[in-house]
Amino acid sequence: MELGLKEKWAIVCGASKGLGYACAQQLAQEGVNIVLVARTEQALQDSAEQIRREAGTQVIAVAADIATAAGRERVLAAAPQVDILVNNAGGPPPGDFRGFSREDWLAALDANMLAPIEMIKATLDPMIARRFGRIVNITSMAVKAPVDILCLSNGARAGLTGFTAGLARQVVQHNVTINNLLPGKFDTARLHANNTQRAQATGVPLDEEITRQKAAIPAGRFGDPAEFGHACAFLCSAHASYITGQNLLIDGGVYHGML
Ligand code: NAP
Repeated sequence: MELGLKEKWAIVCGASKGLGYACAQQLAQEGVNIVLVARTEQALQDSAEQIRREAGTQVIAVAADIATAAGRERVLAAAPQVDILVNNAGGPPPGDFRGFSREDWLAALDANMLAPIEMIKATLDPMIARRFGRIVNITSMAVKAPVDILCLSNGARAGLTGFTAGLARQVVQHNVTINNLLPGKFDTARLHANNTQRAQATGVPLDEEITRQKAAIPAGRFGDPAEFGHACAFLCSAHASYITGQNLLIDGGVYHGML
């Protein structure tokens, strides 16, 4: 399917690896020029080069912390135009809420709620004026089914979800859509680090821990980031103009609700 995105420009945040990278990669395959954002310069440049080689589109790499105002300013200044915005950043650390300070909460809110809102604020009105805009926030399955040890994530992402649910209905008349993609367990560096940490903490060998987790997923496996990237590219497509304000869970069937 031709997605109708050739020569559009996308900012993809948190995108040197994992789910953000997969979104950038699939958008570039559709002819989208990319502003690729992550904090670590070398990994970012390597990923930018990989996308250029594979897709042949323009890729501007901006090493910046999207959770900071200065980082966002540099990213926005580098983008010739923003037709598509994919918001993403690393998730907050796990732990019992009794152990978290006000600073921990503010850091989680900055990265996973306020940074996406600021990026939307900076890019929305020009999208409305051009009568095309696609905004996708990468959140988490924890939005639908909160995870006990991820209280910082549960809280910050719920805030973003509420905010976008209201805003999406105000701007869809201008062909600007806002949707959230909720990953279940995807085979990324973050999932691997979390599993290694869990295996060390419990004394269970890593391969046993992984087998146990996969057995709890109806699909019987972790998600491939490319599957996530394809879903993102479709939500950004010209054809998805009537889909807005949605929370699309991509979890291999883990969530057991009907709605
Ligand atoms: P990942 O493999 O660790 O990749 C995260 C990417 O974001 C990296 O490129 C990282 O590069 C960049 N990044 C992190 N913080 C940033 C910041 N403040 N500013 C700019 N770039 C930043 O993570 P992932 O697995 O793709 O996860 C992406 C998001 O989905 C996270 O919020 C995660 O909590 C959520 N999620 C993932 C899963 C899963 O199974 N993978 C499940 C549920 C939710 P630098 O570190 O160099 O900046």
